Amino acid sequence: MSKLLNVYNRAAPVFVRGEGSWLYDAADNAWLDCVAGIATDALGHCNPILVAALKDQADTLWHISNMFRIPGQEALAERLTGATFADLAFFANSGSEAIECALKMARRYHAAGGNPERDVIIGFKGSFHGRTYGAINASGNTAYLDGFGPALPGYLQLAVDDWAAIADAIAAPTTAAVIIEPVQGEGGALAIPEAMLRKLRQACDANGVLLIHDEVQSGMGRTGRLFAHQWHDDVAPDIMTVAKALGGGFPVGACIATSRAASGMTPGTHGSTFGGNPLAMAVAIAAFDAIAAPEMLAHVREISAHLRDGLATLKARYPETIVDVRGKGLLIGVKLAVNNRDFMAAARDRHLLVAGGGDNCIRLLPPLTLSHAEADIALERMDETCNAMLGTMAA
Ligand SMILES: *Cc1c(COP(=O)(O)O)cnc(C)c1O
Repeated sequence: MSKLLNVYNRAAPVFVRGEGSWLYDAADNAWLDCVAGIATDALGHCNPILVAALKDQADTLWHISNMFRIPGQEALAERLTGATFADLAFFANSGSEAIECALKMARRYHAAGGNPERDVIIGFKGSFHGRTYGAINASGNTAYLDGFGPALPGYLQLAVDDWAAIADAIAAPTTAAVIIEPVQGEGGALAIPEAMLRKLRQACDANGVLLIHDEVQSGMGRTGRLFAHQWHDDVAPDIMTVAKALGGGFPVGACIATSRAASGMTPGTHGSTFGGNPLAMAVAIAAFDAIAAPEMLAHVREISAHLRDGLATLKARYPETIVDVRGKGLLIGVKLAVNNRDFMAAARDRHLLVAGGGDNCIRLLPPLTLSHAEADIALERMDETCNAMLGTMAA
């Protein structure tokens, strides 16, 4: 019996090594990795640039404390703010921690501005923001809240397509902020329509409400732009959370914001022991420079178009299996008519690793460095998996 807390549905294979888009088990079988640590290993496994950055830093300085200045934080904050709407950055160790900072910052902005009654955070059905108490209350997913005591006050979730209710809620005098993933990840790779993102921005502005974008999954090049909301004009948030690919596999998260939105966050209001330590910063800076390179983002758009073409062909060939292909860039959702867990297992039988998702989707979240030839192998194995699923039970 395993001595691990039994909270994960783990797949059978055990991987001992990774290189680029491939994972290897103890018998040295190669598995094509279209999970990439859930959109985290953006530059592939053991990318030499990141390995060098980590090793160099490991020989120099690991950890001090935020009692002291950490030059790597300044350097990464320069990059993140230089590439976005934001003026300031806070570093954490995970997506959930970045979310905690964003939620606290939004409420604190109103409290510091003399409006402490503004404490309601509006979230959306089908969203995912992580597993801390704040994050599960912001997403409102009942499966994640069940059994963990009373739901926290000050959170509300609405349907993405119910604009009338959303507009009313934003106009309420107790509303602090709206939190949304520009492309829902865990919920099933659902891109929020541009018009909706713009209406949210305008309604927040008109009512003095802060807008938070959770780009923990959709950010850092995943959609073919550095951040997903950058596909559109005039939709940028006041606060944004980043994690997953930020460290290319090294645990790190960030909450970035305009100086106005961050104005309540004064010394002593927030902190973290490990957040932004020198090891995390060294790797994240190297990852940022590689991911933000225009050639890398162009590569993501090209490989995404190629994969999506191939998946559209498979959808036409296997209409009894594939219902929809969606998402943005290399955050690809394939909605199935057959059970998604069965499909993932059948794909594993063909040494193709894909992630699950809400709404009976599977997600393809390969490294952004996936090659054209590797995309062809993924499509071939998807084809074989669809073929193997013929005649199986509907979802
Ligand atoms: C993964 C994820 C989180 C939570 O990140 P953790 O690092 O697991 O805490 C939050 N928001 C989104 C959109 C995510 O995909």
